[in-house]
Amino acid sequence: MTIFTKIINREIPSDIVYEDDDVLAFRDINPVAPTHVLVIPKRPIVSVGAADGTDDAALMGKCMAACRAVAELEGLTDFRVVSNSGAGAGQSVFHLHFHVIGGRKLGWPPG
Ligand code: AMP
Repeated sequence: MTIFTKIINREIPSDIVYEDDDVLAFRDINPVAPTHVLVIPKRPIVSVGAADGTDDAALMGKCMAACRAVAELEGLTDFRVVSNSGAGAGQSVFHLHFHVIGGRKLGWPPG
């Protein structure tokens, strides 16, 4: 179990901005931009790289739709959706999550 399961189960507090039956979105505790929201599936998948099969694919699609909803709720027209898959790519919590980042000029490429 990761800390995100505890957030889903309301065992630790978070600032939730969007929720439906399959997906939860809450503000990152260490934001890198004015908007920095994490979108996660309620059913744990380790990462994009670990996703497998049509059920995981469908759930990732729901996460993407939730990212779009979060951007609209936050009033963002321009934003970035990023998911670090694997420790070498910067993943630190091993429950799939998509960062929705915006509200400032975003540089490219990322580090
Ligand atoms: P990553 O490094 O891509 O796995 O992203 C994990 C993110 O989770 C980081 O941006 C952390 O700041 C964030 N994070 C860790 N613990 C919490 C928490 N309790 N509430 C909100 N965000 C968290």
